[in-house]
Amino acid sequence: MIKQIICQQVEKSFKGDGMKTVALKKVDLTFEIGEITAIVGPSGSGKSTLLSLLGTLDKPSGGLITYDGEEVLKKNKSKIADFRFQEIGFIFQQFHLLPTLTALENVLTPLFSRKVSYNKLERAKEVLEQVGLKDKTNSLPSQLSGGQQQRVAIARAIVHKPSWLLADEPTGNLDTETGERIYDLLKELNEQEGCGILFVTHDPALAAKANRIITMKDGVVLSDKVGVPS
Ligand code: ADP
Ligand code: MG
Repeated sequence: MIKQIICQQVEKSFKGDGMKTVALKKVDLTFEIGEITAIVGPSGSGKSTLLSLLGTLDKPSGGLITYDGEEVLKKNKSKIADFRFQEIGFIFQQFHLLPTLTALENVLTPLFSRKVSYNKLERAKEVLEQVGLKDKTNSLPSQLSGGQQQRVAIARAIVHKPSWLLADEPTGNLDTETGERIYDLLKELNEQEGCGILFVTHDPALAAKANRIITMKDGVVLSDKVGVPS
């Protein structure tokens, strides 16, 4: 279980069509397991880029990211994928469920072709119950509301018992009240499982509920405020 992620002078630029976009500029940040951190800032400020680097989906162009001191991104692809499976769960604004699979089958997908010590089917049912969807295991995404679809996506994100949850605007497609329920679920997971949660949001009221609020702009961390958890 990774307890601390440190970004040191992390830079990310994208090249294409002779243009270079600098998405992150010398970002220094430390994340501790167990915290809920909100990341806010205007669109294009580098929030999604930061999450994808932290989640080992991409590599920085400069600087260093270490996981309990280890430079995971220097390893080969399959080792990085193993690390991601062990440690990271992702949640997105568009729920990215597979439309032809039931809720249960969607939740099982991260476990395909993985060796685990637990019973996969039992585990998938357990997490669906944990997100309040015990009676929807055989429903297709099209038969579920937006909030329920996001719950399936959250169950899928935690089925492999990651220690960090990275959520990119998880409530962006939901009405305010449903969004709050989803936040409450994340908070519950944080309390029950002790996982670290980083979530990007445009909603100041949701951000205010986090332990910490990081504000980004133009690839830079503008402010980093540790608040009182509510
Ligand atoms: P945010 O999530 O805060 O809206 P992003 O991290 O998505 O911001 O993007 C930061 C900047 O990097 C933007 O200018 C965006 O256009 C650019 N960018 C992000 N991903 C890519 C990519 N894969 N290729 C080229 N440019 C990208
Ligand atoms: Mg984004």
